Amino acid sequence: MLKIEKLNVYRGYIHADVDISFEVKKGEMVGIFGSNGAGKTTLLQSIMGLVPVQSGSVNYNGSEITTFPPYKIARLGIGYVPEDRRLISEVKVEENILIPCWGKGMPQRVKFNTFEEIFPGIKKLYGKSGELCSGGEQMLIAIFRALSSGPDLLLLDECYEGLSGVARDSWTGYLLEERKKGLSGVIAESNRAFLTWCDKLYQIERGILTPL
Ligand code: ATP
Repeated sequence: MLKIEKLNVYRGYIHADVDISFEVKKGEMVGIFGSNGAGKTTLLQSIMGLVPVQSGSVNYNGSEITTFPPYKIARLGIGYVPEDRRLISEVKVEENILIPCWGKGMPQRVKFNTFEEIFPGIKKLYGKSGELCSGGEQMLIAIFRALSSGPDLLLLDECYEGLSGVARDSWTGYLLEERKKGLSGVIAESNRAFLTWCDKLYQIERGILTPL
């Protein structure tokens, strides 16, 4: 499904990701564990087309997507949850969730009742602007935004950040169920304990990926 080969990405003069290669198969969840500044965000952003790739390739379902812009990558069925959530602050919670469906012209495949099952507290947030939500609530909104168009592959950057234990378990439970139906993911985390359920685990350190 996703095949990364010898990927090199620079952040200014910093060689942030070095010769990274790994594969994600359909229905597989791959965990990438690394401390702050290790290169996790850069890796996910380069897959999503948000930072330019210096060399190497990103292949998705047989297509070379290395130089595709983010909107095209999203339309291919890749959902991205950025570490800093990137909600539009003046826009209401439910509108933030639907942004991929409006902006990118994709149908809403995962509905609000599913989001309410994962996190019942979301109902109280409808009508509020994103900026009035707590950090954990904003992360869940960013997760639901990525889910709304029904992606086949999720790129999750520290998606457990700020979530309560209950929300964390319920979100993991959703991922475990959807994995059975073929959902794939790359889950980048600085806390290895959140990645115990992944099918494959790697450590990233100074941009170098090592299987664990
Ligand atoms: P964090 O969780 O703290 O974001 P990370 O593992 O996601 O850490 P990256 O953000 O990918 O790591 O950073 C990789 C390297 O690139 C680090 O050395 C970091 O200091 C550097 N870096 C990240 N963003 C930039 C930027 N915008 N300009 C220059 N260097 C950057």
